[in-house]
Amino acid sequence: HKKTPELPEKARSIIASLSLSTDDYKAIGDLMASSFEAGLKASGGPKPAVKMLCSYVTKLPAGSETGDYLALDLGGTNYRVLLVRLRGSDQEPEILEDVYAVPQELMLGDGAALFTFIAGTLRDFLQANQLSAGPDGERLKLGFTFSFPVEQHGLSSGSLIMWTKGFAAKGVEAIDKAALPIVCVALVNDTVGTLASCALEDPRCQIAAIVGTGSNAAYVERRSSMERYSDSLAGVSDGGPDGPVVVNTEWGNFGADGCLDRFQTDFDREIDKKSLNPGFQVFEKLISGMYLGEIVRLAIKSLVDDGIIFGGRMPESLVQPMTFLTKYLSEIERDPPKHYYSTDQLLTVDLGLKLVHPIEAVIVRSICEAVSTRSAFLVATGIASLLKRIKPSGHVTVGIDGSLFKFHPHFPERMTRKVQELCPDY
Ligand code: ADP
Repeated sequence: HKKTPELPEKARSIIASLSLSTDDYKAIGDLMASSFEAGLKASGGPKPAVKMLCSYVTKLPAGSETGDYLALDLGGTNYRVLLVRLRGSDQEPEILEDVYAVPQELMLGDGAALFTFIAGTLRDFLQANQLSAGPDGERLKLGFTFSFPVEQHGLSSGSLIMWTKGFAAKGVEAIDKAALPIVCVALVNDTVGTLASCALEDPRCQIAAIVGTGSNAAYVERRSSMERYSDSLAGVSDGGPDGPVVVNTEWGNFGADGCLDRFQTDFDREIDKKSLNPGFQVFEKLISGMYLGEIVRLAIKSLVDDGIIFGGRMPESLVQPMTFLTKYLSEIERDPPKHYYSTDQLLTVDLGLKLVHPIEAVIVRSICEAVSTRSAFLVATGIASLLKRIKPSGHVTVGIDGSLFKFHPHFPERMTRKVQELCPDY
């Protein structure tokens, strides 16, 4: 048995700054509950940090649906075009799919070019799969999953509030202008899509969250709580005047009013300052895949700058921002306790360090653990706050998607444990 060596003082203080207490998580949960409330209540005036957007989805699927639908999914690392053939309760849907990486220049360029690209991929997809309008000119139905904050005008249209997660295209347009035989019947946030697909498998699903490039959540609210939308929802008859409606919380922007400032570390502040959207998406920047690796890199850099690790020199491979990938956290944390094979392998083979001192592996792994644990606990805090809002009388299922949740070896377990601790009653 090897004894884990004592961490240097500076490494301990970095880890301490990344490790919030139980009281901190409770305080953050309370702040979140107030932000949800403020978002739901807001009418006119300045927009609150957490927008609580109405999706106009008032019914979740039951599984008996049939028909052919096109689907677009834009919002993160990949962009997808799909044809989904729903075949009722007895048969699995048939799915055809094309996946594209969105070129960086389109993410940052002018919105018209981005939507020309989308229309082009749709046209190719229709051609390749010999899809066209029905014999009576009936257009193909399209559902668009668009994972950015949108103030919807109804189920199928809306206006972009702001880009997040590295997108910053200017002047966004609708695809309708592309003259394709398509009609957009639903525009949904990816969290709303996740909730709908989870509800297909489990009708008790009332909350969905995403922990991927960004982070966000949706849940089933009572229509009477959505004062801001009372006029536009008045025409919706499903479930009566106080029936359900899915809310896209946009919780990623929680903290944009400054309420999370005292929980941020210097690394979080630096990431925010250098981001495309400084001051916004504060909660997301503490949680999601786009940022966790960079938090670890900045922590490593501050130890290097003080001459504590790597002989006081930043490895060449880690000099540039965003070079410590979030998937490295998953690899490093895969090692069993007190073993450092993956950590050593990653630091030497992937990152090109010639020699890794045992204490350096321990420090890097401890930083990764602190960063990913804080993320999992913050997601848990958000889910606990939503559970307390819903006040379920029985079991509630929470659907979660996103690569950080799916591929990190300890994320689901840590998150679940924290939800149970924060709301033992549900
Ligand atoms: P989206 O971009 O739609 O959110 P994903 O859910 O796949 O798509 O999330 C991608 C993000 O997840 C990447 O930006 C990366 O930061 C993170 N990621 C990818 N693979 C892993 C992994 N093995 N472990 C942890 N995080 C990962």
